[in-house]
This record gives sequence, structure tokens and C-alpha cells, in this order.
Amino acid sequence: MNSINLRHKLHQHPELSNTEFGTASRLVKYIAPLSPDKIITGIGGTGVAVCFGDAATGSTVMLRCELDALPIAETNSFDYRSINPGISHKCGHDGHMAILAAVAQYYSNNRPKAGRVILLFQPAEETGEGAKKVLEDRVSEQLKPDFVFALHNTPKYPMGEVFIKTGTICCASRGMIIRLTGKTAHAAQPETGNSPVKAVHQLLPLFEQLPALINSHSDFTFATIVGVKIGEKAFGTSPADAEIYVTLRSEHDLEMRRLVEMVNDKVIALAIEHQLAYSIESEDVFDATVNHDEAVAIITNALHNEAVHLISHPFRWSEDFGQFTSMHCGALFGLGAGEDTPALHNPDYDFPDQLIEIGSRYFIKITDHCFNHKQPAK
Ligand SMILES: [Zn+2]
Ligand SMILES: [Zn+2]
Repeated sequence: MNSINLRHKLHQHPELSNTEFGTASRLVKYIAPLSPDKIITGIGGTGVAVCFGDAATGSTVMLRCELDALPIAETNSFDYRSINPGISHKCGHDGHMAILAAVAQYYSNNRPKAGRVILLFQPAEETGEGAKKVLEDRVSEQLKPDFVFALHNTPKYPMGEVFIKTGTICCASRGMIIRLTGKTAHAAQPETGNSPVKAVHQLLPLFEQLPALINSHSDFTFATIVGVKIGEKAFGTSPADAEIYVTLRSEHDLEMRRLVEMVNDKVIALAIEHQLAYSIESEDVFDATVNHDEAVAIITNALHNEAVHLISHPFRWSEDFGQFTSMHCGALFGLGAGEDTPALHNPDYDFPDQLIEIGSRYFIKITDHCFNHKQPAK
């Protein structure tokens, strides 16, 4: 089986965040015959680390990819379409895994002479939990990198070209769940209860004003209302319960904190005004992914013969890879997936196979550049 067949197998058998057991074992089965110096499984749940080389002889370079698929029903009809109803690889993590499998193949044949490469297959990226869990796992002590790199395929950008910047490359984001609770009443006598409708009506327009409310002028600071639910289809009843789901986004973590505080202040004020109980919770919390200057310089030097573009704005989407760059010198880059490829998380998206060879070639150049030019920071 080659890395393209592997990608198709992974695509056919997608698994949701934190349940990537089959995916992890499929990878181990593929990589074990390549005789790496070490394979560690069960990291942060289902994570797998594959090591080639020896940390004592030079720099440790970690390359990270993701194991999880999404709760999206695939609309493609090709042979290797998802067989798991309602679940599919719509972020291209199947392709990212195949890229690292191809890198494993390379270092199996070309053992590092000085240094160690760690191929990390990380669980639960889509929910923002996996990177944290991996870093909190005690086994991570053995896997401390001098440099850590990741790529994400980026549809609508030219195929195989690299897009990178220093500082924030992927925005911070946070899902918020706001609950307002009053009292039901007969629809004929709503005044005897306490409906949250008016408070919701006042709250919704505030989300659009949030950037101004925190004095932000960034195009990357905004809120997206993703769901609103009030009451039931019960025509005799004035409702008691409302739920609002909103996603906040910003270029910097500090700005995110101010957005969250502002939402809290506004919800509390409205709850008091309308005498409603309230709760505010967060889910899918992603810090900004901030690239290190040195790691970006390594990428641009290692790929000086390739089409590498320094971009001035971050990608709007989020990545939990920021957990790694907050602790280690590292960078994530966008790898163009072609102008005609459907967008990430679209139901008809599929990772372009030609990126497997390109992505693995870039990762090998970056890793070898570190081995040849960088001293470990020990
Ligand atoms: Zn995704
Ligand atoms: Zn992704």
C-alpha cells in the first residue's frame, strides 16, 4: 500500500474527535513495518508518535498532523467515500496523515544521521482539545521538540504553493452557549410568566456591534450567531427557555478575552433587566496560532526553491496547533489545495492526492534543514 491508498482507506473509515482508535491502529499497522526507532501510542487518548533518529545527536524536529474527521455527511460518490454515516474527512486530515506516513517512509530509507524527527498524529483537533491533551500527557516529556511544524491544506489557494506569516497565522475562536430562563405561561396570558424573547431580541444585534464595543478595528474580530432556540412548537405556551450559540473570533488572544468579558457583561445586564436566570458556557475554544520568527525563517530558507508567499493577514479559521507554538519554537503554514477545490468542511470537499507528495517533500526539506543548520536549544 502506498500513501495515496492509505489516504483513501483513512478517508473511507473516518472517526470523530477522541474516538480515532481505528485510524490510529491503521496508521501503526502502516508505519510499524518501516521500523522506526520508537512508536508510542495512546498519547492524549488516541495519539501516536513515531520517532526516527536519536535526540542526543542533534535537533529534535516534530511534525504534527491530526487524526479526526467531522460530523458532516459526505456527498461524494467515489469508491473510497466514507462508510460511516454522517461522518467524513472534510478538513483533509486524512491527507495530512498520509503526508506524515510518506515522511515516515522517507526516514525509514534515509535514517537521520544527526537529530531526531517525531511524527505526531494528534487526536481531537476539530474540538480544540487534542493538542492540550497531548502536551499534558506525561509521555510528552520524552518528546520535547526543538522545533515543531504543521501544515494545513488551504482550498482556494494555488495548488502546492506555501502561504506563511510570522505572528498569528490562524485566528483564536470560541463557541459560547448562552442560556436565558424565565417562566412559562399560557399563551393567552403571557404576562403571568416571563418570556426571554425580549432579552434575546435585544441581545442578538449586540453581537454585530461587539468589535466596536471593545474598540477593535480588526477585520478578524467578529461574532457569528450559529444558532438561536426559544421555546417549543407549543402554541398554547409562552416560552421560558432560550439558548443562543455564537462563535467569537479574533486575531489575538487578548482581544478574545475582551470579547468574552463584553458578552458576559451584556448577558448579565439583560438577565437582570428582564429578571431571567442565565448561564454562559464555552466550547471549542482555540487560542490563536502564533508562528515564531525563527521557525518561519527555517521554512522560507528550506523551501527557497519553492513558491513560498509571505502573507500579511492570518487565516480566519482556528487550529489547536497554537498550543504547541505557545510552548515550543514552531510554525504552521498553509499549503494551497487548488482554486477549484471545495472549501474546508464543505460536504463535497476531498483532499487532493497530489498534495501528499508535495507536502511530504516540503516537510522533509524543512526537517533536514533543521538537522543540518540548527543546534538543539538544550
Ligand atoms: Zn477543520
Ligand atoms: Zn483541519
